[in-house]
Amino acid sequence: KGDPRLQAISEAIRVIPNFPKPGIMFQDITPLLLKHKVFKDTVDIFVDRYKDMGISVVAGIEARGFMFGPSIALAIGAKFVPLRKRGKLPGKVICEDYELEYGKDCLEMHVDAVQQGEKAVVIDDLVATGGTLSAAIKLLECMGAEVVECACVIGLPHVKSRLNGRPLYILVEPSEL
Ligand code: AMP
Repeated sequence: KGDPRLQAISEAIRVIPNFPKPGIMFQDITPLLLKHKVFKDTVDIFVDRYKDMGISVVAGIEARGFMFGPSIALAIGAKFVPLRKRGKLPGKVICEDYELEYGKDCLEMHVDAVQQGEKAVVIDDLVATGGTLSAAIKLLECMGAEVVECACVIGLPHVKSRLNGRPLYILVEPSEL
């Protein structure tokens, strides 16, 4: 808070009402990706926060966690682990069911992607109920990784309770949700 970069990040997010179904105020981060400085500032804020924490895993949630996670992973010297929807990963996976603001789904991770004792951060574009992040935490902890924090570009501060005590870091709050 008080960081002038956050104002620009907030302004670069477009709200599309009733997408993908009536009643949802969809927070579209694609305009942010079109503005090089704003996109870079977003990644840099996460990089500055996580670079000296001994984190070896950046886990990104399909699909919009894939738009920020790899850049963060490369900059902090960590690996990138994709957490994908059911049936997308070809190797041996573990699966965790979760409920979504618009539906029900399952998140999968390759079992050989992380080792016992590794420190991880989970990245997504937005947290609403926290159900998706909660499933991501379970996948990583199931394989013995330590989830240091979950990080999203957009979110409401009060969702922390869903994350089993894991910290949540958010850059901006939605203007309408
Ligand atoms: P939740 O599990 O309820 O915290 O939902 C978060 C996941 O759903 C993230 O992967 C988001 O990308 C997506 N999501 C939920 N609500 C919205 C929204 N209003 N706008 C954009 N994405 C959303």
